[in-house]
Amino acid sequence: MLSTNVSIEQKINLPEYLEKGVEVYVKRDDLIHPFISGNKWRKLKYNYHAFLESNTIGIVTFGGAFSNHILATAAFCAHSGIPSIGIIRGEEPKGINHVLILARLWGMILKFVSREQYKDTEEISNVWQNNGYFVIPEGGENEDGVKGCEEIIYELNQSYDHIICASGTGCTFSGIVRAVSKQGLLTKCHSIAVLKQGEFLYDTVRKFVKEAAEYTVHCNYHFGGYAKTTPELLDFLNYFAANTGILSDPIYTSKMFFAVNDMIKNNQFKKGERILTIHTGGLIGLLSEKMLNDVQNVLHKKTLILK
Ligand SMILES: *Cc1c(COP(=O)(O)O)cnc(C)c1O
Repeated sequence: MLSTNVSIEQKINLPEYLEKGVEVYVKRDDLIHPFISGNKWRKLKYNYHAFLESNTIGIVTFGGAFSNHILATAAFCAHSGIPSIGIIRGEEPKGINHVLILARLWGMILKFVSREQYKDTEEISNVWQNNGYFVIPEGGENEDGVKGCEEIIYELNQSYDHIICASGTGCTFSGIVRAVSKQGLLTKCHSIAVLKQGEFLYDTVRKFVKEAAEYTVHCNYHFGGYAKTTPELLDFLNYFAANTGILSDPIYTSKMFFAVNDMIKNNQFKKGERILTIHTGGLIGLLSEKMLNDVQNVLHKKTLILK
């Protein structure tokens, strides 16, 4: 298996942080691997261990046509010499899709199933299991995935008052909350929900974390829902990249960095507090045709203003 000892906690100095007297750090999990990035590598780690003990012939997993998890699994399996199969929700896209092309380059076999069929994950999983395959759920969301994400906390070099990450399934956040509880840290954990109605994330955490824990899910930073963006968000992505050198993706990490700036602006952190953001990777999400088009429109408007 690939191994990583990258644990960079980089301090970022935006004027708005200095003005409020808070310290902001980014844990650069995006640097773990260009495609098996961030939390996807962490979620695969112990699933891979389980695969090795399972006496199965390959890995099957699930995702949408732009899924970072599909891409990460394809790359991970190729690195580890494991045959991989991706069950993709919906029909095969007609146009160019960078995620699916890359997954195929890594040897993943793609099976497209209708949205209706896709809902019956259990049925599909059973068929593959009976054929000798190891099944990892969509997004890598299972106990082994959570266990891998606990290590985000165990690797830290210093203590923080707040830890913040973006959440889709909530698996990563569950690992963070569980590790903070197990270690008895006083750190407050915050999740930024990237889907509408992110309150379900409280249930996800309760499912995986049996220890007493305090945490907050922030449900007002979804920008219209999963993979939805607004010019304000893309403008922020641009500002953040240009002023920190750190690129984020519009689906997950831009929403999280935006939320952090907004919460700082609204005095939700105390002077002197140290805040850690988790860069969960996923930069490929910026490079779809649709996202690049939206970004280009925002940049174009700015250029017009400059003239
Ligand atoms: C998948 C993904 C997430 C969401 O992680 P969950 O564990 O599903 O909450 C966050 N950030 C990035 C970049 C991702 O690719």
